[in-house]
Amino acid sequence: MDRPAHMEDSAEPVDVLIIGGGPAGATAASLLAGRGTQVLLLEKDRHPRFHIGESLLPRNIALFERLGVLEQVAAIGVLKPAAEFVSDEHGAAVAFPFSLARDARDRFAFQVPRAAFDQVLFANATARGARTLQQCRAVSLRPAPPGGRALVHAVTAGAERRAFAPRFVLDASGRDTFLAGRLGLREPAARHACAAVSAPYRGAEFRTGEREGCISIHLARDGWFWMIPLPDGVMSVGFVGHPTLFKGRESSMAAFLAAQIEASPSVRARMRTAERISAVTATGNYSYAARTNWGEGYMMIGDAFAFLDPIFSSGVLFAMMAGEMGAAVAEAWLADPRAARALARRAERRLRRGMSALGWLITRINDPVLRDMFLSANNRFGMRDGLISLLAGDFERPLATRGPEFAFKAAYRMLSALHWLGLRLHPDGQLRRAMPARPRLRAAMCATSCASIRCTPPYWRWLGSRASVRFWISAADAAKPPCCSCSAARRGGCTASSATGPGSRRRDAPPRRSASSRRWATSPRCRRGRPPPRCGCWTGAARWRPRRR
Ligand SMILES: Cc1cc2nc3c(=O)[nH]c(=O)nc-3n(C[C@H](O)[C@H](O)[C@H](O)COP(=O)(O)OP(=O)(O)OC[C@H]3O[C@@H](n4cnc5c(N)ncnc54)[C@H](O)[C@@H]3O)c2cc1C
Repeated sequence: MDRPAHMEDSAEPVDVLIIGGGPAGATAASLLAGRGTQVLLLEKDRHPRFHIGESLLPRNIALFERLGVLEQVAAIGVLKPAAEFVSDEHGAAVAFPFSLARDARDRFAFQVPRAAFDQVLFANATARGARTLQQCRAVSLRPAPPGGRALVHAVTAGAERRAFAPRFVLDASGRDTFLAGRLGLREPAARHACAAVSAPYRGAEFRTGEREGCISIHLARDGWFWMIPLPDGVMSVGFVGHPTLFKGRESSMAAFLAAQIEASPSVRARMRTAERISAVTATGNYSYAARTNWGEGYMMIGDAFAFLDPIFSSGVLFAMMAGEMGAAVAEAWLADPRAARALARRAERRLRRGMSALGWLITRINDPVLRDMFLSANNRFGMRDGLISLLAGDFERPLATRGPEFAFKAAYRMLSALHWLGLRLHPDGQLRRAMPARPRLRAAMCATSCASIRCTPPYWRWLGSRASVRFWISAADAAKPPCCSCSAARRGGCTASSATGPGSRRRDAPPRRSASSRRWATSPRCRRGRPPPRCGCWTGAARWRPRRR
């Protein structure tokens, strides 16, 4: 990162330098310039430029008001009154209207084309007095010595090299993670890996009536979809799944997205007449956080610090909140670095607390128990309204008002235990008998309810009985795992009597252990395409088994 001394001499002094002109950088620049601080904002692209992430949260509204851009955002956006969750497995949908949020400020949000939205924020920073340079990429940084200035080098579109000597640097470079990458601070999220593929469409089915304008999150077997209505009849559609699913694909990204849409009944129904209007974009495994987001003379804000799975549309809100905090820390640093350090510590704590509140839900979103809870939307102990407040972006509630959140977590643990034993919550709020989450119990239940293929798992032999286990592998859905065989075959104990069916094994199934377990059966009954009595819906449960404790 070091540069020759003569470059240092020619470096232009600035008070605060911001790297990256997205929501985080533009927010910080607007606020700093508005308070009279000398600030320079570098952006490697030229606005308007494409960016993913169109759905905003109600808590953004107060920030827009503080920046003075609410009317401009309203003019380019679609009003978003609710977030809707649709589940393929449950065959049901539920909306969470923001009007039920616990705080009256959180009544609505917007969905915006990001190119136009980011341009509004960037232009606002310029209008408020920030110096802005577009098509100027920061390429190196030498951190400030104590009490000194950092040295930042940048290259313009015309390959001109520029040097700046800021007293404080705000890194808002997004997922480029300019500083976290260079300082070796970036760490992938340990408990949540995912990748995304998306494209804009015209002709998709829009929601009407009370749900008009709301984002739809479709919970599918292998992950989830977003469907975000935008102006001019455009629908942003994206699929998020485990990175192994993306790596294992045998087709182009466009074909992969089309196949995922086809595989989800609820999305397919809304996309029957849809046409893709622009290229497909893909984002690789993306959840990460920096070990710390500040140091001597610098702070990372927005995605440059951490990135959360976008299922709850929280990215822009976190970026703008961090932009506001970053502006306060930079200002304090210019006046008194000691006070600024305390402020930076508090800001990091606030951001991490907010992220962990959402992170708890995000890491469990593929868990059938959490999906059951979303779909039943129970308001006992104010759990539904508390959840809506969280979905609205109210991450900073005082401990005394977080009862619904704790009740929700307690209910989740209790329902996980019941799921383990074979009871699941249904969208009507009733507990019903179901396949247990525990593989042995599940296999045992399969054994009692299935009968077409002879199978003798060792533990049944050990029990001294010969059991008849029916393996369900429907012809129409051959890629799905048979619910009972995934537990039996995992133990290498299943000796199926009929022929092995192509595609009958899950792609991401664990390695098979024995020759006998290599034989997977297709039921003749299922080849005729008839669904099994009760196994079908539990294939999802097998794939996304809850974390073992
Ligand atoms: C698949 C997906 C879906 C998403 N959906 C949503 C959603 O629905 N709602 C939501 O709120 N969020 C969503 N997000 C997240 C959201 O897009 C980001 O959290 C948000 O854009 C972060 O803002 P930022 O300012 O930190 O970074 P960015 O918006 O990425 O801005 C960073 C800017 O820095 C510039 N830059 C980078 N490096 C340099 C450099 N060296 N020099 C100069 N400039 C540089 C870039 O050009 C860019 O303009 C989604 C993200 C993904 C990946």
